[in-house]
Amino acid sequence: MSEISVEITGLKKSFGSLDVLKGIDVTVNRGDVVCIIGPSGSGKSTLLRCVNLLEEPNDGKIVVNGVELTDQDVDIDLARTKIGMVFQSFNLFAHLNVLANLTVAQRKVLKRGEKEAQEIALRNLDRVGLKEKANSMPAQLSGGQQQRVAIARALSMDPDVMLFDEPTSALDPELVGDVLGVMRQLADEGMTMLVVTHEMQFAREVADKVIFMDGGYIVEEGPAAEVIGNPQETRTQEFLARVL
Ligand code: ADP
Ligand code: MG
Repeated sequence: MSEISVEITGLKKSFGSLDVLKGIDVTVNRGDVVCIIGPSGSGKSTLLRCVNLLEEPNDGKIVVNGVELTDQDVDIDLARTKIGMVFQSFNLFAHLNVLANLTVAQRKVLKRGEKEAQEIALRNLDRVGLKEKANSMPAQLSGGQQQRVAIARALSMDPDVMLFDEPTSALDPELVGDVLGVMRQLADEGMTMLVVTHEMQFAREVADKVIFMDGGYIVEEGPAAEVIGNPQETRTQEFLARVL
């Protein structure tokens, strides 16, 4: 089996006359963490949404664990179950308790029985340190706890890859650390992750590769120590000067 988990080549995406992704190539090796940084509007979310098939690319190829998502004949629903996504807004089902948030897709999409789904849910709640919140409603949890539940929900589908789109951007500063801690732990466990983030410290410490995007292109990529620590391109330098 190939060591490559995600391979994106020549990806283009437009909305009407607005060209958002202008030819993106990304390779994520199995077990690696790739962090994507860049200014607002540079196309980071659109890139992740294409990988999760929430947006249909106009051109290019996306292969995730050997399955070409851009193939017309691919079973999109099946492929999507292997790709976990965590958004800036936590997107929990407000009318369901935590446990039900974690079991509903397992049952409906993966056809797991209630008992098995609950066991898997509790195991993943334990992983994010929230097993005791299984019977709470989302509104009873802090933002950081809700985001950890969202991570546990994604993990309950046994994804091959996890996509994170600014998972800590909507959180109060004191809650950011817990969510980053869970993500760090996942990285240590060998999860393949593609993470859009403004947390430069996290990227420096956890990322195997950092990608700087601007204007729909990848401007610079490499190890964090190079891209963040010693950027070569003017646009990267200017961006980092603003955020660091
Ligand atoms: P980032 O995540 O880097 O801030 P986005 O991928 O969200 O950037 O957006 C890139 C550009 O695409 C922005 O100009 C945004 O307004 C535009 N865009 C994103 N989604 C849509 C959409 N569904 N329809 C039209 N324009 C969109
Ligand atoms: Mg975005």
